[in-house]
Amino acid sequence: MKCEVIRDLFPSYIDGLTSEESNELIEEHLEECRECREYLDDMKEDIVQENQPVKNKEAVKPFRKLRQKTRRKIFLTAGGAVLVCGLIFGRGLLYYGRSWTANSEDVKMTIEAQGGIATLRFAPEKKNCKLNAEAGEDNTITIVESKQIPFAKTYNPNAYWSCTFIDEDTVMGIDGQNMDFSEDQVLTIKYEDRTETISIGELASQALENPVAQSEDVKMTLEKDDTGTVTLGFFPELMGVSLKVEDTGENQILIRQYYDGQGEPVENGAFYTVDFIDENTIRLSDGTERKLSQDDVLTIEYEDKTEEIAFSDLWEGSLPGDEQEG
Ligand SMILES: [Zn+2]
Repeated sequence: MKCEVIRDLFPSYIDGLTSEESNELIEEHLEECRECREYLDDMKEDIVQENQPVKNKEAVKPFRKLRQKTRRKIFLTAGGAVLVCGLIFGRGLLYYGRSWTANSEDVKMTIEAQGGIATLRFAPEKKNCKLNAEAGEDNTITIVESKQIPFAKTYNPNAYWSCTFIDEDTVMGIDGQNMDFSEDQVLTIKYEDRTETISIGELASQALENPVAQSEDVKMTLEKDDTGTVTLGFFPELMGVSLKVEDTGENQILIRQYYDGQGEPVENGAFYTVDFIDENTIRLSDGTERKLSQDDVLTIEYEDKTEEIAFSDLWEGSLPGDEQEG
């Protein structure tokens, strides 16, 4: 697991909203990664819980506010620095203490949605700036920008919002109580120059859908038996992940990833078979036969790329790039 991926889960992890499987992945990673341990500790200190009561059942207030640093801490850090830097820093302090609503052009928003959790990440485009997400009424968040303190330990300058979806129309609240939301509810993001709305239902469906696998996380094997059946095996390179093959069209498949947190990668593989009657004919799953043309290919979709394997290669029982091994 990449550190970035693990860190994106931290906001939910701290709130105890991550699944047991995710927790295992996170804790495994933390054991061997000091940077992420420190990062998590910093983040824990910086969290400000939103404890507003829910006004009505329709309201979606699952979101938790993360501040990169509390004001108190800013001054503590500054206090230490002033001893060293004297007046120069003292003057700067006034400036660094200010914050303002960010311009949308200075913010890069990305949405990570998997395993039921949707996380919005707001990263500053400007150097030496950091962002906060401030909660308002009716699922509104305002993106606030301020100056990063110089000399301070490098903190994560990003702001995060995340929520956990139980199903397509239920979200987990802060107090652990599930809340329903309606299809037309939106999350409103306010910038200085404009506002952006995101459908909460859309976030939910993204978060609940299992992600398409990255090609680098999948090892493909090919085996051909005496009866002309070619079996493609897809095995996860990641622990705790299993794969499934999804038919997305004629001669077209997609590899999807599931987090089940158990089993060895070799046990969590998925298979796809092609039944050759002869070199130019395959038997489809409904029993009918289909003639192959010269340029027929099997298309395999990954998140990052699409791979095509000619049926002639499948018939030969070899994968492209496999020649040396015979
Ligand atoms: Zn790490």
